[in-house]
Amino acid sequence: MEKKINKQRLILISNGEPYAHRNTGNEIECVKLAGGLTTGLDPLMKKDKGLWIAWGRGEADFEVVDKDDKVRVPDENGYTLKRINLSKKEQAGFYYGFSNEVMWPICHNFITKANFKQNYWETYKKVNEKYALSALEEITEDDLVWIHDYQLALIPGFIKEKKKNTKVAMFWHIPWPAWEAFRTIPWQEIILKKMLKSDFIAFHTPLFVNNFIDCTEKLGADVDRTENIVNFQGQATKVMSIPLGIDYQQFQRQINENSLNEKAKKIKEDYHAEKIVFAVDRLDYTKGILKRLKAMDKLFERYPEHIGKVTMVQRISPSRTEVEEYQQMRESINKKIAEINGKYQKDEWVPIKYFYGSVPQKELLPYFRAADIALITPLIDGMNLVAKEFLAVQNKGMLILSEFAGAAIYLDDALLVNPYDINAVTEAIQQGLEMSQKEKELKLTKLKEEISKYDINWWRNKFLAEWVKRYD
Ligand code: UDP
Repeated sequence: MEKKINKQRLILISNGEPYAHRNTGNEIECVKLAGGLTTGLDPLMKKDKGLWIAWGRGEADFEVVDKDDKVRVPDENGYTLKRINLSKKEQAGFYYGFSNEVMWPICHNFITKANFKQNYWETYKKVNEKYALSALEEITEDDLVWIHDYQLALIPGFIKEKKKNTKVAMFWHIPWPAWEAFRTIPWQEIILKKMLKSDFIAFHTPLFVNNFIDCTEKLGADVDRTENIVNFQGQATKVMSIPLGIDYQQFQRQINENSLNEKAKKIKEDYHAEKIVFAVDRLDYTKGILKRLKAMDKLFERYPEHIGKVTMVQRISPSRTEVEEYQQMRESINKKIAEINGKYQKDEWVPIKYFYGSVPQKELLPYFRAADIALITPLIDGMNLVAKEFLAVQNKGMLILSEFAGAAIYLDDALLVNPYDINAVTEAIQQGLEMSQKEKELKLTKLKEEISKYDINWWRNKFLAEWVKRYD
């Protein structure tokens, strides 16, 4: 497979860029942006043949590009990044508008949160076309064009309409909803039609694959359910579940480099806690933060023996800060935490330690290690990488995971819960705290086996192998 791909150039198109350029004093520095996508695809791109096309959001991004908006990253020996420049108006309609207020809520089943503004849709179409035209300037016959995620759903169509023999695939990083939810988007048929110009599309789970295929059948596609091949208007699209993994080896290296046990011990001492329950999320209504806090409240009420002993550490990284709904969400969370702390706080011990702000991933590692329990209870999630990261770092704790996270079907040795059922979450925390060391270790061993085997390298190789098979 490697040999076959080596002959072909990979053109990757994503909304977020792998590297940004920033001003530091009189200099401009190139910063690698964190995220699974960069980690997993950077090595492949560095083979010197790749081209990555993405929105340039860094403050100095357009000071370093050439006349075609291209720059080598991370340095002269790296690969080419071609930046798309989006005006404020384009950002508002395409990114904050259609992507975040239509595609995000609909794909996560929050239909009533969707804002179907015609103008959002028009801008989304225009910006997708802009990306596609930029890619079309580059595409040659043998290239493999790999498009990522819900912001860029129309690109396969825009590319194939101009260059119909281009090899195009998509990976969809968030859930794909049931037909009942998807059909509420007034422009759903156009979205599906454009996506179905891909030769290959992958999702995180079989459920998302089925939901997507159901939608294509409603559109009138002819589906081979055994092979999961969708035939529509002369194009055959293979659809598969290929779950994204983490860079397990990188986590192992970081564990060895850092004195994690000492840092973890210090966290417990600083918080005067015998046991830590840890959670980290982006601020988003899909993450179930408030319900999780209610479950903690109930834990102290029902099992007062934990008062003075168990501390929950909740980290929240800011997201969509300019949106009023997110500001309100933040206020409700602050209020609930103040209420719980007011109720149970004792001497130097507090029940909930709360941090609002984003930190580099390696600063999360001591918390992952200190945690007796990771409490990861999204109401819905495409995958949830934090769950896998906790398992990679942990050597004795327990994972409590929402059964509505994509990761849950692969991690069934965790304590799986319905995040809407606050009683059940409370009882799962209690069960996790009481579980014998032997049982936890047994479960952890199996969970670690899963995430180390199905890591980011597996994901990337599997995707590419299945995609190029389409052209045999
Ligand atoms: N993360 C981080 N710093 C923070 C909070 C989160 O680096 O302060 C990372 C975390 O380690 C994980 C990612 O952000 O890799 C979040 O991915 P996940 O799939 O869990 O959720 P998403 O935010 O993509 O919905």
